[in-house]
Amino acid sequence: MPKHGSPEAPTQATERPVGAPGNAGAAMKPFVGQDAVVEFFRRTGENNLAHAYLFWGPRGVGKRTFATWLAARLHCENPGDFPLGMCGRCGPCLRSLAGSSGDTVVVDEEFIREADRLAGKALERKTDVIGIEASRRIITLMQMHSYEGGRLVCIVPNFDYATGDPAYNALLKELEEPSPGKLFLLTAERPDRIPATIRSRTIAVPFVPLTDELIARTLREHYGVEAKRADAVARRAQGSLGDALAALEGEGGSLFEAVREWVAGCLREPRRIPRTPALPGDDPRRETAEALRFARLVVRDALAVALGGSAHVLDPESLRIYEGVVAAMGSDVPQRLIHASRAVAEAARLADETNIPPAQILGWLQVNLRSV
Ligand SMILES: [Zn+2]
Repeated sequence: MPKHGSPEAPTQATERPVGAPGNAGAAMKPFVGQDAVVEFFRRTGENNLAHAYLFWGPRGVGKRTFATWLAARLHCENPGDFPLGMCGRCGPCLRSLAGSSGDTVVVDEEFIREADRLAGKALERKTDVIGIEASRRIITLMQMHSYEGGRLVCIVPNFDYATGDPAYNALLKELEEPSPGKLFLLTAERPDRIPATIRSRTIAVPFVPLTDELIARTLREHYGVEAKRADAVARRAQGSLGDALAALEGEGGSLFEAVREWVAGCLREPRRIPRTPALPGDDPRRETAEALRFARLVVRDALAVALGGSAHVLDPESLRIYEGVVAAMGSDVPQRLIHASRAVAEAARLADETNIPPAQILGWLQVNLRSV
């Protein structure tokens, strides 16, 4: 049986191994879905690869990730199925997983910045444009021999956005004189932005949006996201695992923490307008009700701290925040917090009994909390 990157090598295309154990989130990300792409390369076979491919399709669906997997598989010393069966244990695999393979050149922002630095150039300009320096560095690196004795792979993500004439010319030169020791993998959302002279020298491979179900499962199994949240995030991601992961990152702390910060900010510094807590947006009415429930808890606990009781039941972070609120509010704190508590109750009533949009209710509460 061929070896794979994970101990229990699954057989179905959509359940193939994703990332070596314990390495999720490092240089190589889980690659999921895109069965047609995998099948296309399986049929092509390792020995019949062309010298340049253009992976095109929407963002966040695995174009660049597939390129890194393909490169790692080509460099693996104990490879399994083509195109994804890497052993995950040999030297080249470990270097691939760590993002430090000498045989894979990834022309990302870091690469461009480094090329500028090596050329002694100032770093002020935009780094997502492949300039003369980066183009020269691509050519130099691709002229070297492979460290591992295999193929040199050059991955150029977002080739439709990140280019200028130097890059086109450098790449065109490489593509006009194909070498069996080199493989170019370009990715693009909009292949029509790429000059036809380059496009015609690559094989275009379409990538498609992922299903909600697959995104949710990937979030659960590879990123430890709780099932309900994974479903909600996946539904909003419109087929893009990258967008789903970005949304999770953007959510940051919990809703409770966001509400606590918001309410405390309104009370502590009424002249400044704090950021209203971002609701995940899946079910605004339910989430508003939840946010208001948290707001009531926050005001209640702040009142408890103001009255000098039950502070010992709070976690240290909350205690620190409420002590800050009480200190900043100065005089009449308990009375004003009781007003605040009434305002929260009124907001909860409005949310429950009227059709006033959630954003307006939170805005109304914000005005009231800042003037108690
Ligand atoms: Zn290997």
